[in-house]
Amino acid sequence: MDSEKKYDFIIIGAGPAGLFAAYELARLQKSLKIIIIDKGSEAMERKCPVSGNGSNCLNCSPCNIMCGVGGSGIFSDGILNLRHDVVGGDLSDFTGNDETSCRIVDYIEQAFLRFGAPKEIHGTDEGKIEKLSLKAMSAGIKFVRIRQRHLGSENTPRLIQKFADYLREKGIEIRTNTTVKDLAVKEKKCKGVVLENGDILRSEKTIFAPGRVGVGWVEEMVKKHNISAVHAPIDIGVRVEVPAIIMKSVIEVNRDPKFHIWTSKYEDFIRTFCTNHEGFVVKENYGNFIGVNGHSFTNKKSENTNFAFVVKTRLTEPLENTTTYAESIAKLATILGQGKPIIQRLGDLRRGRRSNIWRLKKSTFHPTLADVTPGNIAMALPHRILTDIIEGLDKLNEVIPGVATDSTFLYAPEIKYYAMKIGVDKNMQTNIKNLFAAGDGAGLSRDIVKASATGLLAVKGAMRTF
Ligand SMILES: Cc1cc2nc3c(=O)[nH]c(=O)nc-3n(C[C@H](O)[C@H](O)[C@H](O)COP(=O)(O)OP(=O)(O)OC[C@H]3O[C@@H](n4cnc5c(N)ncnc54)[C@H](O)[C@@H]3O)c2cc1C
Repeated sequence: MDSEKKYDFIIIGAGPAGLFAAYELARLQKSLKIIIIDKGSEAMERKCPVSGNGSNCLNCSPCNIMCGVGGSGIFSDGILNLRHDVVGGDLSDFTGNDETSCRIVDYIEQAFLRFGAPKEIHGTDEGKIEKLSLKAMSAGIKFVRIRQRHLGSENTPRLIQKFADYLREKGIEIRTNTTVKDLAVKEKKCKGVVLENGDILRSEKTIFAPGRVGVGWVEEMVKKHNISAVHAPIDIGVRVEVPAIIMKSVIEVNRDPKFHIWTSKYEDFIRTFCTNHEGFVVKENYGNFIGVNGHSFTNKKSENTNFAFVVKTRLTEPLENTTTYAESIAKLATILGQGKPIIQRLGDLRRGRRSNIWRLKKSTFHPTLADVTPGNIAMALPHRILTDIIEGLDKLNEVIPGVATDSTFLYAPEIKYYAMKIGVDKNMQTNIKNLFAAGDGAGLSRDIVKASATGLLAVKGAMRTF
Protein backbone atom coordinates (compact mmCIF):
# COMPACT_ATOMS: atom_id res chain seq x y z
CA MET A 1 0.00 0.00 0.00
CA ASP A 2 1.17 3.47 -0.90
CA SER A 3 -0.80 5.10 1.88
CA GLU A 4 0.88 8.33 2.85
CA LYS A 5 3.99 7.84 0.66
CA LYS A 6 5.86 11.15 0.44
CA TYR A 7 7.39 12.90 -2.56
CA ASP A 8 8.96 16.28 -3.23
CA PHE A 9 7.17 16.50 -6.57
CA ILE A 10 4.11 14.73 -7.94
CA ILE A 11 3.48 15.34 -11.63
CA ILE A 12 0.00 14.45 -12.86
CA GLY A 13 0.16 13.50 -16.54
CA ALA A 14 3.04 12.19 -18.68
CA GLY A 15 2.23 14.31 -21.74
CA PRO A 16 4.71 16.91 -23.04
CA ALA A 17 3.94 19.20 -20.07
CA GLY A 18 4.56 16.50 -17.46
CA LEU A 19 7.61 15.06 -19.23
CA PHE A 20 9.28 18.46 -19.54
CA ALA A 21 8.49 19.28 -15.92
CA ALA A 22 10.37 16.09 -15.03
CA TYR A 23 13.15 16.85 -17.53
CA GLU A 24 13.74 20.19 -15.87
CA LEU A 25 13.80 18.57 -12.42
CA ALA A 26 16.32 16.00 -13.68
CA ARG A 27 18.52 18.80 -15.02
CA LEU A 28 18.55 20.55 -11.64
CA GLN A 29 20.34 17.51 -10.18
CA LYS A 30 18.91 18.04 -6.73
CA SER A 31 18.20 14.89 -4.79
CA LEU A 32 14.46 15.21 -4.99
CA LYS A 33 11.92 12.41 -4.84
CA ILE A 34 9.78 12.73 -7.95
CA ILE A 35 6.92 10.73 -9.43
CA ILE A 36 4.99 11.14 -12.69
CA ILE A 37 1.58 9.50 -12.67
CA ASP A 38 -0.37 8.73 -15.82
CA LYS A 39 -3.59 6.85 -16.30
CA GLY A 40 -2.43 5.54 -19.69
CA SER A 41 0.30 3.09 -20.63
CA GLU A 42 4.00 3.16 -21.58
CA ALA A 43 4.99 4.71 -24.90
CA MET A 44 5.98 1.45 -26.60
CA GLU A 45 2.90 -0.32 -25.31
CA ARG A 46 0.43 2.22 -26.59
CA LYS A 47 -1.89 0.81 -29.18
CA CYS A 48 -4.74 2.19 -31.20
CA PRO A 49 -7.81 0.69 -29.53
CA VAL A 50 -9.28 -0.13 -32.92
CA SER A 51 -6.46 -1.32 -35.18
CA GLY A 52 -4.03 -2.33 -32.44
CA ASN A 53 -1.19 -0.65 -34.38
CA GLY A 54 0.12 2.12 -32.18
CA SER A 55 -1.71 5.21 -33.38
CA ASN A 56 -1.17 4.28 -37.00
CA CYS A 57 -4.71 3.55 -37.90
CA LEU A 58 -6.76 5.13 -40.59
CA ASN A 59 -10.30 4.48 -39.44
CA CYS A 60 -9.96 5.10 -35.82
CA SER A 61 -10.93 7.69 -33.90
CA PRO A 62 -10.20 7.08 -30.31
CA CYS A 63 -6.53 7.55 -31.20
CA ASN A 64 -6.76 11.13 -30.17
CA ILE A 65 -8.23 10.37 -26.81
CA MET A 66 -5.63 7.70 -26.29
CA CYS A 67 -3.18 8.77 -23.63
CA GLY A 68 -0.22 7.58 -21.62
CA VAL A 69 3.51 8.35 -21.61
CA GLY A 70 3.93 10.96 -24.36
CA GLY A 71 0.43 12.35 -23.94
CA SER A 72 -2.26 12.79 -26.55
CA GLY A 73 -1.55 14.18 -30.00
CA ILE A 74 2.18 13.64 -30.10
CA PHE A 75 1.66 10.12 -31.46
CA SER A 76 -0.67 11.07 -34.27
CA ASP A 77 1.47 13.47 -36.27
CA GLY A 78 3.83 15.25 -33.97
CA ILE A 79 4.64 18.54 -35.62
CA LEU A 80 6.75 20.75 -33.40
CA ASN A 81 5.81 24.40 -33.93
CA LEU A 82 9.09 26.10 -33.08
CA ARG A 83 7.72 29.48 -32.25
CA HIS A 84 6.98 31.01 -28.86
CA ASP A 85 3.84 32.87 -29.91
CA VAL A 86 0.89 33.04 -32.37
CA VAL A 87 0.17 29.29 -32.50
CA GLY A 88 -0.61 27.15 -29.48
CA GLY A 89 -0.49 30.09 -27.07
CA ASP A 90 2.01 32.83 -26.26
CA LEU A 91 4.79 31.95 -23.85
CA SER A 92 5.54 35.60 -23.16
CA ASP A 93 2.26 35.72 -21.20
CA PHE A 94 4.17 33.65 -18.63
CA THR A 95 7.79 34.68 -19.09
CA GLY A 96 7.08 38.39 -19.55
CA ASN A 97 9.49 38.73 -22.48
CA ASP A 98 10.06 37.32 -25.95
CA GLU A 99 13.77 36.67 -25.55
CA THR A 100 13.32 34.23 -22.67
CA SER A 101 10.40 32.61 -24.49
CA CYS A 102 12.52 32.04 -27.62
CA ARG A 103 15.30 30.54 -25.50
CA ILE A 104 12.82 28.09 -23.96
CA VAL A 105 11.60 27.02 -27.40
CA ASP A 106 15.23 26.38 -28.47
CA TYR A 107 15.83 24.40 -25.31
CA ILE A 108 12.77 22.23 -25.96
CA GLU A 109 13.83 21.67 -29.57
CA GLN A 110 17.28 20.53 -28.41
CA ALA A 111 15.71 18.09 -25.95
CA PHE A 112 13.57 16.57 -28.70
CA LEU A 113 16.66 16.28 -30.92
CA ARG A 114 18.54 14.62 -28.09
CA PHE A 115 15.88 11.91 -27.90
CA GLY A 116 15.83 11.33 -31.65
CA ALA A 117 13.67 13.97 -33.39
CA PRO A 118 14.40 14.01 -37.15
CA LYS A 119 17.07 16.49 -38.28
CA GLU A 120 14.95 17.76 -41.18
CA ILE A 121 13.46 21.18 -40.58
CA HIS A 122 10.59 22.84 -42.46
CA GLY A 123 9.64 26.48 -42.95
CA THR A 124 13.07 28.05 -43.43
CA ASP A 125 13.17 28.86 -47.16
CA GLU A 126 13.14 32.68 -47.03
CA GLY A 127 12.38 33.11 -50.76
CA LYS A 128 9.32 30.85 -50.65
CA ILE A 129 8.12 32.31 -47.35
CA GLU A 130 8.30 35.86 -48.69
CA LYS A 131 6.44 34.94 -51.88
CA LEU A 132 3.65 33.16 -49.99
CA SER A 133 3.40 35.89 -47.33
CA LEU A 134 2.99 38.51 -50.04
CA LYS A 135 0.33 36.48 -51.85
CA ALA A 136 -1.53 35.95 -48.57
CA MET A 137 -1.31 39.62 -47.60
CA SER A 138 -2.72 40.68 -50.99
CA ALA A 139 -5.75 38.50 -50.22
CA GLY A 140 -6.10 40.00 -46.74
CA ILE A 141 -4.82 36.83 -45.05
CA LYS A 142 -1.92 36.35 -42.69
CA PHE A 143 0.48 33.53 -43.40
CA VAL A 144 2.19 32.64 -40.14
CA ARG A 145 5.85 31.91 -40.72
CA ILE A 146 7.06 29.20 -38.46
CA ARG A 147 9.91 26.68 -38.22
CA GLN A 148 8.62 23.15 -37.83
CA ARG A 149 9.95 19.67 -37.18
CA HIS A 150 7.87 16.63 -37.99
CA LEU A 151 8.33 13.87 -35.44
CA GLY A 152 6.15 11.46 -37.46
CA SER A 153 3.75 8.93 -35.99
CA GLU A 154 6.12 6.05 -36.74
CA ASN A 155 9.11 7.54 -34.87
CA THR A 156 7.36 8.98 -31.88
CA PRO A 157 6.94 5.87 -29.68
CA ARG A 158 10.73 5.28 -29.78
CA LEU A 159 11.49 8.93 -29.08
CA ILE A 160 9.16 9.06 -26.09
CA GLN A 161 10.48 5.76 -24.78
CA LYS A 162 14.03 7.20 -24.86
CA PHE A 163 12.76 10.28 -23.04
CA ALA A 164 11.11 8.15 -20.35
CA ASP A 165 14.20 5.90 -20.03
CA TYR A 166 16.34 8.99 -19.46
CA LEU A 167 14.02 10.25 -16.71
CA ARG A 168 14.07 6.83 -15.02
CA GLU A 169 17.89 6.78 -15.19
CA LYS A 170 17.77 10.07 -13.33
CA GLY A 171 15.78 8.41 -10.57
CA ILE A 172 12.33 9.70 -11.51
CA GLU A 173 9.52 7.22 -10.98
CA ILE A 174 6.98 6.93 -13.79
CA ARG A 175 3.84 5.15 -12.75
CA THR A 176 1.47 4.25 -15.59
CA ASN A 177 -2.07 2.85 -15.62
CA THR A 178 -2.73 4.85 -12.47
CA THR A 179 -5.45 7.46 -12.26
CA VAL A 180 -5.35 10.42 -9.93
CA LYS A 181 -8.86 10.71 -8.54
CA ASP A 182 -8.52 13.82 -6.42
CA LEU A 183 -6.18 16.51 -5.21
CA ALA A 184 -5.47 16.42 -1.49
CA VAL A 185 -6.34 20.02 -0.67
CA LYS A 186 -6.69 21.36 2.84
CA GLU A 187 -7.06 25.00 3.83
CA LYS A 188 -6.21 26.15 0.29
CA LYS A 189 -2.97 24.14 0.27
CA CYS A 190 -2.28 21.14 -1.95
CA LYS A 191 -0.67 18.34 0.03
CA GLY A 192 -0.62 15.65 -2.62
CA VAL A 193 -3.03 13.45 -4.56
CA VAL A 194 -5.55 10.70 -3.98
CA LEU A 195 -5.37 7.73 -6.35
CA GLU A 196 -8.31 5.79 -7.68
CA ASN A 197 -7.60 2.94 -5.26
CA GLY A 198 -7.79 5.35 -2.35
CA ASP A 199 -4.04 5.58 -1.72
CA ILE A 200 -2.81 9.02 -0.78
CA LEU A 201 0.54 10.25 -2.08
CA ARG A 202 1.89 13.26 -0.23
CA SER A 203 3.98 15.91 -1.96
CA GLU A 204 5.63 19.25 -1.32
CA LYS A 205 4.72 20.44 -4.81
CA THR A 206 2.17 19.08 -7.28
CA ILE A 207 2.26 19.77 -11.02
CA PHE A 208 -1.21 19.55 -12.51
CA ALA A 209 -0.80 18.59 -16.21
CA PRO A 210 -3.62 16.23 -17.20
CA GLY A 211 -4.03 17.39 -20.82
CA ARG A 212 -7.25 17.80 -22.74
CA VAL A 213 -8.26 14.23 -22.05
CA GLY A 214 -8.51 15.33 -18.42
CA VAL A 215 -10.71 18.35 -19.12
CA GLY A 216 -13.77 16.90 -17.39
CA TRP A 217 -11.71 16.02 -14.35
CA VAL A 218 -10.09 19.48 -14.32
CA GLU A 219 -13.55 21.07 -14.23
CA GLU A 220 -14.48 18.76 -11.37
CA MET A 221 -11.33 19.77 -9.45
CA VAL A 222 -11.94 23.47 -10.21
CA LYS A 223 -15.42 23.25 -8.69
CA LYS A 224 -14.52 21.00 -5.77
CA HIS A 225 -11.45 22.94 -4.62
CA ASN A 226 -12.40 26.44 -5.79
CA ILE A 227 -9.43 26.67 -8.13
CA SER A 228 -9.68 29.97 -9.98
CA ALA A 229 -10.39 29.43 -13.68
CA VAL A 230 -12.31 30.93 -16.61
CA HIS A 231 -13.93 29.41 -19.71
CA ALA A 232 -11.76 29.73 -22.82
CA PRO A 233 -12.86 30.30 -26.42
CA ILE A 234 -13.43 27.20 -28.56
CA ASP A 235 -12.79 26.39 -32.24
CA ILE A 236 -15.73 25.14 -34.31
CA GLY A 237 -15.72 24.36 -38.01
CA VAL A 238 -15.01 21.69 -40.60
CA ARG A 239 -12.19 19.55 -41.92
CA VAL A 240 -11.46 20.44 -45.53
CA GLU A 241 -10.16 17.84 -47.98
CA VAL A 242 -8.71 18.63 -51.40
CA PRO A 243 -6.43 16.85 -53.88
CA ALA A 244 -2.85 16.91 -52.54
CA ILE A 245 -1.59 18.62 -55.67
CA ILE A 246 -3.58 21.75 -54.78
CA MET A 247 -1.71 22.13 -51.50
CA LYS A 248 1.72 21.09 -52.80
CA SER A 249 3.14 24.59 -53.27
CA VAL A 250 2.19 25.75 -49.75
CA ILE A 251 3.33 22.47 -48.17
CA GLU A 252 6.73 23.17 -49.73
CA VAL A 253 6.84 26.33 -47.63
CA ASN A 254 5.61 24.72 -44.41
CA ARG A 255 4.65 21.20 -43.47
CA ASP A 256 1.62 22.51 -41.52
CA PRO A 257 0.92 25.92 -43.07
CA LYS A 258 -1.03 28.27 -40.82
CA PHE A 259 -3.27 30.91 -42.38
CA HIS A 260 -5.13 33.40 -40.21
CA ILE A 261 -8.21 35.08 -41.66
CA TRP A 262 -10.61 37.73 -40.32
CA THR A 263 -13.94 37.38 -42.07
CA SER A 264 -15.68 40.48 -43.46
CA LYS A 265 -19.28 39.84 -42.46
CA TYR A 266 -18.82 38.96 -38.79
CA GLU A 267 -15.18 39.95 -38.37
CA ASP A 268 -14.60 36.51 -36.89
CA PHE A 269 -11.22 34.83 -36.67
CA ILE A 270 -10.85 31.68 -38.73
CA ARG A 271 -7.69 29.65 -39.20
CA THR A 272 -6.17 26.60 -40.82
CA PHE A 273 -4.28 24.10 -38.74
CA CYS A 274 -3.42 20.41 -38.45
CA THR A 275 -2.72 19.98 -42.16
CA ASN A 276 -2.19 16.39 -43.21
CA HIS A 277 -0.53 16.35 -46.60
CA GLU A 278 -1.23 13.12 -48.47
CA GLY A 279 -3.04 12.12 -45.31
CA PHE A 280 -6.36 10.75 -44.17
CA VAL A 281 -9.44 12.16 -42.48
CA VAL A 282 -10.40 10.13 -39.42
CA LYS A 283 -13.51 9.86 -37.28
CA GLU A 284 -13.21 10.62 -33.60
CA ASN A 285 -15.48 9.03 -31.08
CA TYR A 286 -16.09 10.97 -27.90
CA GLY A 287 -18.64 8.55 -26.52
CA ASN A 288 -21.94 10.39 -26.85
CA PHE A 289 -20.92 12.35 -29.95
CA ILE A 290 -18.40 12.16 -32.79
CA GLY A 291 -15.97 14.49 -34.51
CA VAL A 292 -13.32 14.46 -37.23
CA ASN A 293 -9.57 14.82 -37.31
CA GLY A 294 -6.69 14.14 -39.68
CA HIS A 295 -3.63 11.89 -39.73
CA SER A 296 -0.62 11.59 -41.99
CA PHE A 297 2.07 8.92 -42.09
CA THR A 298 5.57 8.66 -43.42
CA ASN A 299 5.03 5.34 -45.15
CA LYS A 300 1.37 5.43 -46.09
CA LYS A 301 0.09 8.16 -48.38
CA SER A 302 -3.22 9.20 -49.89
CA GLU A 303 -3.73 11.44 -52.91
CA ASN A 304 -5.48 14.05 -50.75
CA THR A 305 -4.59 16.70 -48.22
CA ASN A 306 -6.84 17.70 -45.33
CA PHE A 307 -6.76 20.51 -42.81
CA ALA A 308 -8.91 21.87 -40.01
CA PHE A 309 -10.71 25.14 -40.80
CA VAL A 310 -12.18 26.50 -37.61
CA VAL A 311 -13.79 29.65 -36.27
CA LYS A 312 -12.78 30.95 -32.84
CA THR A 313 -15.96 31.14 -30.77
CA ARG A 314 -16.16 33.05 -27.52
CA LEU A 315 -19.27 33.37 -25.36
CA THR A 316 -20.04 36.02 -22.77
CA GLU A 317 -23.46 36.00 -21.18
CA PRO A 318 -25.69 34.32 -20.19
CA LEU A 319 -23.70 31.24 -21.31
CA GLU A 320 -19.92 31.37 -20.89
CA ASN A 321 -19.36 27.65 -21.09
CA THR A 322 -18.06 27.18 -24.65
CA THR A 323 -17.66 23.42 -24.16
CA THR A 324 -21.38 22.96 -23.48
CA TYR A 325 -22.17 25.00 -26.61
CA ALA A 326 -19.73 23.06 -28.82
CA GLU A 327 -20.89 19.71 -27.49
CA SER A 328 -24.49 20.53 -28.33
CA ILE A 329 -23.41 21.29 -31.92
CA ALA A 330 -21.42 18.05 -32.08
CA LYS A 331 -24.41 16.10 -30.73
CA LEU A 332 -26.70 17.62 -33.35
CA ALA A 333 -24.24 16.70 -36.12
CA THR A 334 -23.99 13.18 -34.66
CA ILE A 335 -27.78 12.78 -34.74
CA LEU A 336 -27.99 14.04 -38.32
CA GLY A 337 -25.06 11.84 -39.43
CA GLN A 338 -26.48 8.81 -37.56
CA GLY A 339 -23.29 8.43 -35.56
CA LYS A 340 -20.98 9.26 -38.46
CA PRO A 341 -19.38 12.56 -39.53
CA ILE A 342 -21.33 14.49 -42.16
CA ILE A 343 -19.58 14.97 -45.49
CA GLN A 344 -20.66 17.56 -48.02
CA ARG A 345 -19.22 18.89 -51.27
CA LEU A 346 -18.63 22.62 -51.14
CA GLY A 347 -20.61 22.89 -54.39
CA ASP A 348 -23.67 21.34 -52.74
CA LEU A 349 -23.32 23.57 -49.69
CA ARG A 350 -23.23 26.66 -51.90
CA ARG A 351 -26.36 25.49 -53.75
CA GLY A 352 -28.18 24.96 -50.45
CA ARG A 353 -28.69 21.24 -50.98
CA ARG A 354 -27.47 18.13 -49.25
CA SER A 355 -24.79 15.85 -50.67
CA ASN A 356 -25.65 12.24 -51.42
CA ILE A 357 -23.51 9.44 -52.79
CA TRP A 358 -24.32 10.42 -56.38
CA ARG A 359 -23.38 14.04 -55.85
CA LEU A 360 -20.17 13.05 -54.04
CA LYS A 361 -19.20 11.18 -57.20
CA LYS A 362 -19.28 14.45 -59.17
CA SER A 363 -16.12 15.51 -57.35
CA THR A 364 -12.85 15.15 -59.22
CA PHE A 365 -11.35 13.03 -56.43
CA HIS A 366 -12.45 10.58 -53.71
CA PRO A 367 -12.78 11.27 -49.97
CA THR A 368 -10.38 9.35 -47.71
CA LEU A 369 -12.92 8.66 -44.97
CA ALA A 370 -15.55 6.12 -45.93
CA ASP A 371 -17.36 5.92 -42.59
CA VAL A 372 -19.37 9.10 -43.24
CA THR A 373 -22.91 10.23 -43.96
CA PRO A 374 -23.35 12.46 -47.03
CA GLY A 375 -25.60 15.29 -45.91
CA ASN A 376 -25.93 18.98 -45.27
CA ILE A 377 -23.60 20.54 -42.72
CA ALA A 378 -25.81 23.65 -42.80
CA MET A 379 -28.30 21.63 -40.75
CA ALA A 380 -25.72 21.19 -37.98
CA LEU A 381 -23.48 24.24 -37.83
CA PRO A 382 -24.77 27.69 -36.78
CA HIS A 383 -25.33 30.11 -39.68
CA ARG A 384 -22.60 32.44 -38.47
CA ILE A 385 -19.97 29.69 -38.48
CA LEU A 386 -21.09 28.41 -41.86
CA THR A 387 -20.93 31.91 -43.35
CA ASP A 388 -17.42 32.35 -41.94
CA ILE A 389 -16.32 29.03 -43.44
CA ILE A 390 -17.56 29.80 -46.95
CA GLU A 391 -16.16 33.32 -46.87
CA GLY A 392 -12.88 32.10 -45.42
CA LEU A 393 -12.48 29.39 -48.05
CA ASP A 394 -13.16 31.89 -50.82
CA LYS A 395 -10.41 34.12 -49.44
CA LEU A 396 -8.05 31.20 -49.03
CA ASN A 397 -8.72 30.25 -52.64
CA GLU A 398 -6.92 33.44 -53.67
CA VAL A 399 -3.78 32.11 -52.00
CA ILE A 400 -4.27 28.42 -52.73
CA PRO A 401 -6.12 28.23 -56.05
CA GLY A 402 -8.42 25.22 -56.17
CA VAL A 403 -9.08 24.99 -52.45
CA ALA A 404 -12.67 26.21 -52.79
CA THR A 405 -14.00 24.42 -55.86
CA ASP A 406 -17.33 22.59 -56.00
CA SER A 407 -15.38 19.32 -55.55
CA THR A 408 -13.87 20.26 -52.16
CA PHE A 409 -15.08 17.97 -49.37
CA LEU A 410 -16.11 19.36 -45.99
CA TYR A 411 -16.45 17.09 -42.98
CA ALA A 412 -18.26 18.14 -39.81
CA PRO A 413 -18.05 18.56 -36.94
CA GLU A 414 -14.40 19.59 -36.47
CA ILE A 415 -14.23 21.01 -32.98
CA LYS A 416 -11.21 21.77 -30.87
CA TYR A 417 -12.19 21.72 -27.22
CA TYR A 418 -10.08 23.67 -24.82
CA ALA A 419 -9.98 23.37 -21.12
CA MET A 420 -10.99 26.03 -18.67
CA LYS A 421 -8.05 28.39 -18.27
CA ILE A 422 -6.66 28.05 -14.78
CA GLY A 423 -5.44 31.25 -13.17
CA VAL A 424 -1.72 31.12 -12.34
CA ASP A 425 0.74 33.62 -10.88
CA LYS A 426 4.25 34.31 -12.18
CA ASN A 427 5.40 31.00 -10.68
CA MET A 428 2.62 29.08 -12.48
CA GLN A 429 1.10 28.54 -9.03
CA THR A 430 -2.68 28.37 -8.82
CA ASN A 431 -4.67 30.01 -6.03
CA ILE A 432 -4.12 26.70 -4.19
CA LYS A 433 -0.69 26.85 -2.57
CA ASN A 434 1.84 24.30 -3.88
CA LEU A 435 -0.39 23.38 -6.83
CA PHE A 436 1.22 24.40 -10.14
CA ALA A 437 -0.57 24.14 -13.48
CA ALA A 438 0.81 23.32 -16.93
CA GLY A 439 -0.26 22.20 -20.37
CA ASP A 440 -3.48 21.90 -22.32
CA GLY A 441 -5.62 20.50 -19.52
CA ALA A 442 -5.08 23.65 -17.50
CA GLY A 443 -5.92 25.76 -20.58
CA LEU A 444 -2.39 27.20 -20.61
CA SER A 445 -1.24 25.78 -23.96
CA ARG A 446 -2.54 24.27 -27.17
CA ASP A 447 0.41 22.50 -28.75
CA ILE A 448 3.34 20.25 -27.94
CA VAL A 449 6.00 22.95 -27.64
CA LYS A 450 3.89 25.31 -25.53
CA ALA A 451 2.68 22.47 -23.30
CA SER A 452 6.32 21.39 -22.81
CA ALA A 453 7.32 24.97 -22.04
CA THR A 454 4.61 25.45 -19.42
CA GLY A 455 5.72 22.21 -17.71
CA LEU A 456 9.24 23.53 -17.55
CA LEU A 457 8.06 26.92 -16.28
CA ALA A 458 5.91 25.27 -13.62
CA VAL A 459 8.98 23.54 -12.22
CA LYS A 460 11.06 26.72 -12.34
CA GLY A 461 8.23 28.49 -10.50
CA ALA A 462 7.80 25.71 -7.96
CA MET A 463 11.54 25.72 -7.18
CA ARG A 464 11.29 29.44 -6.42
CA THR A 465 8.59 28.77 -3.84
CA PHE A 466 10.51 26.23 -1.74
C1 LIG B 1 -5.03 14.12 -32.81
C2 LIG B 1 -4.15 15.20 -32.30
C3 LIG B 1 -3.09 15.65 -33.07
C4 LIG B 1 -2.24 16.65 -32.60
N1 LIG B 1 -1.18 17.05 -33.37
C5 LIG B 1 -0.34 17.99 -32.89
C6 LIG B 1 0.80 18.39 -33.63
O1 LIG B 1 1.09 17.87 -34.71
N2 LIG B 1 1.61 19.36 -33.11
C7 LIG B 1 1.35 19.95 -31.90
O2 LIG B 1 2.14 20.81 -31.48
N3 LIG B 1 0.28 19.58 -31.17
C8 LIG B 1 -0.56 18.62 -31.63
N4 LIG B 1 -1.64 18.26 -30.89
C9 LIG B 1 -1.83 18.89 -29.57
C10 LIG B 1 -0.83 18.28 -28.57
O3 LIG B 1 -0.90 16.89 -28.60
C11 LIG B 1 -1.12 18.81 -27.18
O4 LIG B 1 -1.05 20.21 -27.22
C12 LIG B 1 -0.14 18.29 -26.13
O5 LIG B 1 -0.05 16.90 -26.13
C13 LIG B 1 -0.57 18.77 -24.74
O6 LIG B 1 0.31 18.26 -23.80
P1 LIG B 1 -0.14 18.06 -22.28
O7 LIG B 1 1.04 17.46 -21.58
O8 LIG B 1 -0.72 19.30 -21.76
O9 LIG B 1 -1.34 17.01 -22.32
P2 LIG B 1 -1.45 15.56 -22.92
O10 LIG B 1 -0.49 15.36 -24.00
O11 LIG B 1 -2.88 15.37 -23.23
O12 LIG B 1 -1.04 14.61 -21.71
C14 LIG B 1 -1.80 14.56 -20.53
C15 LIG B 1 -1.61 13.21 -19.86
O13 LIG B 1 -2.28 13.26 -18.60
C16 LIG B 1 -2.85 12.00 -18.34
N5 LIG B 1 -3.96 12.16 -17.40
C17 LIG B 1 -5.10 12.89 -17.58
N6 LIG B 1 -5.87 12.84 -16.48
C18 LIG B 1 -5.22 12.06 -15.60
C19 LIG B 1 -5.52 11.61 -14.28
N7 LIG B 1 -6.63 11.97 -13.65
N8 LIG B 1 -4.64 10.79 -13.68
C20 LIG B 1 -3.48 10.41 -14.28
N9 LIG B 1 -3.15 10.80 -15.53
C21 LIG B 1 -4.01 11.61 -16.17
C22 LIG B 1 -3.32 11.51 -19.69
O14 LIG B 1 -3.34 10.11 -19.69
C23 LIG B 1 -2.26 12.09 -20.64
O15 LIG B 1 -1.27 11.11 -20.96
C24 LIG B 1 -2.49 17.25 -31.34
C25 LIG B 1 -3.56 16.80 -30.56
C26 LIG B 1 -4.36 15.78 -31.01
C27 LIG B 1 -5.47 15.30 -30.12
